[in-house]
Amino acid sequence: MPPLVEPAAELTVDEVRRYSRHLIIPDVGMAGQKRLKNARVLCVGAGGLGSPALLYLAAAGVGTLGVIDFDVVDESNLQRQVIHGQSDVGRPKAESAADSVREINPLVNVVVHNEALTTDNVMEIFSGYDLIVDGTDNFATRYMVNDAAVLLGKPYVWGSIYRFDGQASVFWAEHGPCYRCLYPEPPPPGMVPSCAEGGVLGVLCASIGSIQVNEAIKLLAGIGEPLVGRLMIYDALEMTYRSVKVRKDPECVLCGKNPTVTSLLEDYEAFCGAVSEEAQEAASGSTITAADLKSMQDRGENVYVIDVREPNEYEIVSIPGAVLIPKGEFLNGSALERLPQDKKIVLHCKSGVRSAEVLAVVKNAGFSDAVHVGGGVLSWIKTVDPSLPAY
Ligand SMILES: [Zn+2]
Repeated sequence: MPPLVEPAAELTVDEVRRYSRHLIIPDVGMAGQKRLKNARVLCVGAGGLGSPALLYLAAAGVGTLGVIDFDVVDESNLQRQVIHGQSDVGRPKAESAADSVREINPLVNVVVHNEALTTDNVMEIFSGYDLIVDGTDNFATRYMVNDAAVLLGKPYVWGSIYRFDGQASVFWAEHGPCYRCLYPEPPPPGMVPSCAEGGVLGVLCASIGSIQVNEAIKLLAGIGEPLVGRLMIYDALEMTYRSVKVRKDPECVLCGKNPTVTSLLEDYEAFCGAVSEEAQEAASGSTITAADLKSMQDRGENVYVIDVREPNEYEIVSIPGAVLIPKGEFLNGSALERLPQDKKIVLHCKSGVRSAEVLAVVKNAGFSDAVHVGGGVLSWIKTVDPSLPAY
């Protein structure tokens, strides 16, 4: 595949010294390093994948490195987001990441986008870069990144992580499939837990993030066999890497023969449905706050509080008096016969997504006055008992 970037005119003496271990690799050499110097790469997200990606892209000598993130550094990020440190807690991630990049390589021109990537700014921001590295953790942004990249004719390096499992690929519609060819539909809401819900092994970020940087460098310099049309699947427990072929789907709505998606969608959140329609319907008018629950308990109301999270989450922190019945036991029906008929059912989870799904099941089973706690145990910690650990 042709190199993405034309070489810069020259390397300075400082650059030759700094990049000497690249320069003596025949496949990279002066020409490859000059291409990296001229390259403009955007990293979407300075989180789990963005952290190692940005660190290595900076060290490698990518000339212009953009970082976009709207979030601030939280203590729970530090287990894996190694571009940030203890003293960065509370700072915008984009700024914290930019400082680390400058410290590693002052020759890099860092562009800070301290904002959310949205349908209003994605096309303009992407057009300033040669290559995108996607480190997002949610489906709505993933589909938006893919659509924008395909519409602009730009390649991007995609990665995803969950617990011990990682995946990576390069999507470049001109030369292969796009993300929609691989995943035409987003998964049903609630079916695929996020890392915040399900956890992620910190070092998995480095494994997948480094694959992304590896592919970025190859694309920029035009060397090797890029991961176009292949999906790399990594299992950290088994310690296996395998790659499977991904074909371009001629019927793809975005990059196929007769595309029906010819501009960005209006609302990617709605397309991916953060909460399913049934859950939204069930939760409408049947959502209480954590403070409401506390008052109900204090007044001695006849409530039956059910925590629908997993046992290991319950072990970390739980609402006093809550009984643990994981969501799966509602979905397979086994929990329903254990529910008391003479008490008001109050459901909660971590953030209110899973409990809304369960609420739909419980209401369908005839518990029409059941409610769930909006914002879940996180909201309880925030508004009722800040001494408990948020996770
Ligand atoms: Zn496609």
